[in-house]
Amino acid sequence: MVESSYSFILTLYKEDGDRLGEAAVEPDWGPAYEDARLTALRRGRLSPDAFHSDGVVQPIWDTKSGRPHVAGVKVALENVAAGPDPDADGGVIVPITYFRKLAEAASVQLVARGVLKEGDTFQYGVLAHEKNGCGGPSDDGSVRIREAGDPLPVHASALDPYLARSMVCGPDTTDDFPVFFPASMLERIAALVRDAGPCETGGMLIGRLCRDADAGELFAEVTAQLPAEHVQADSASLTFTGETWAAARDAIRLRGGSETPLGWYHSHPAKEWCKDCPPEKRATCSLECFFSAADQQVHATLFPHAYSVALVVTDGQRGLRFDLYGWRRTRILQRGFHMLRADGGRGEASS
Ligand SMILES: [Zn+2]
Repeated sequence: MVESSYSFILTLYKEDGDRLGEAAVEPDWGPAYEDARLTALRRGRLSPDAFHSDGVVQPIWDTKSGRPHVAGVKVALENVAAGPDPDADGGVIVPITYFRKLAEAASVQLVARGVLKEGDTFQYGVLAHEKNGCGGPSDDGSVRIREAGDPLPVHASALDPYLARSMVCGPDTTDDFPVFFPASMLERIAALVRDAGPCETGGMLIGRLCRDADAGELFAEVTAQLPAEHVQADSASLTFTGETWAAARDAIRLRGGSETPLGWYHSHPAKEWCKDCPPEKRATCSLECFFSAADQQVHATLFPHAYSVALVVTDGQRGLRFDLYGWRRTRILQRGFHMLRADGGRGEASS
């Protein structure tokens, strides 16, 4: 639940500084709240039992222009332990670029009204005003975020043994918390993708969240993939249904309840999409590695936690490839992952 006693106003400017127009906006603070929770959890400042602590969003006033000009917002959590770093209340700072998508949407309105031409560049600023002088949801005029739910299952586990028997795949994104996939699971997923041929296929990823207190780091081990039998799939879309989630909850319960949904995977049958393209176009195909707007939508809606990841398996011209996407700060971007060899060297693709 989000309560706000502030209203946020976007102001759009031409490049020369002329004001184009204003729009009241209601930002979705969910990704910022999730980022604050994961950051505090990684730093060991938020107990997994208190993962559902309330969050509070406070405007940060621009130092030059002053109130009501906003330079960013700060998301602070209740029940966060003090730490040695300067942001002792465990909050995270969200820059003004958080409003960019809303500004782009507002610019579309201005184009429709003929105030702005399509393709013109513009700048934006954000103002925050208290909705009413007193009696708001919180007396300091902040935005309050609430979430109900169970404690997050986080296991105490050493990170080094995992690193010792894994190899890094994908881009080097060392600021992200490590995510481990067993090589055998990737092989199984590859087989499912090949079997699905021209159709998209996918499912849920469940696993364990672990924290190495000595290393001061959180990491995730994907322990199972649940092919989504209830997923409605064709060559270009994938839908998770209520049955998919019920099946995942059942599986977690049957496996002892220590796991949690970590994300999802799906395939991109790029070979099928490109079958009518000429060879020279295939050689530079941009469908080999991407996370579509629809993928972003699924991830943001169904897997909003900052630790949620999405594995994309592309069946393309150059064979199968695995790419992992996840939340970085408040955006969904490609990230690296670790492929785990089985104990005793089983499951290793090559020596
Ligand atoms: Zn996709």
